[in-house]
Amino acid sequence: MLRRNLAASAFLGIAAYLFIPLSILGLALGSGLTPAAGATGPAAPQEREARAEKFVSAKLRLWQERLNLTDWHIQANLVRRRALEPQTLGNIHWDTDTKQATIGVLSTYDYKLPFPEMLEDMEFTVVHELVHLRLASLPRSDASRRVEEYAVNELARALLKLAKQ
Ligand SMILES: [Zn+2]
Repeated sequence: MLRRNLAASAFLGIAAYLFIPLSILGLALGSGLTPAAGATGPAAPQEREARAEKFVSAKLRLWQERLNLTDWHIQANLVRRRALEPQTLGNIHWDTDTKQATIGVLSTYDYKLPFPEMLEDMEFTVVHELVHLRLASLPRSDASRRVEEYAVNELARALLKLAKQ
């Protein structure tokens, strides 16, 4: 969890997604946006990255609508591990004045999971970060961040489970 932007502006937010082993998520793959290239996905690294980028933007639009965040301008980028805090798979920065947000999702180049599980994980990161954004108007403190992280994980997990029923 980071607060490095808070000194600059009280309206800037940043939240990191803590690493959760996939086995805990227990999510089934959804239909529609899953890769068409079979269980292992495309072999070429650039193609995997391009496919994941497309998947992440599609999921971002879908969940942005579902969470009624369409008045925000939100962008998602695949980022290398060095751009994220240790032990995290994504982050979000937002500005409530301009209603702009940027989500960082760990790049395929740094993922160790098989392609379908990786996409599933990336969707979880997108939903997780959007739930943070949904809660952005709530007061926050260092003490509330750990609790928020837990609540955000539970909500994201429940939403994804519902969406896949
Ligand atoms: Zn988080």
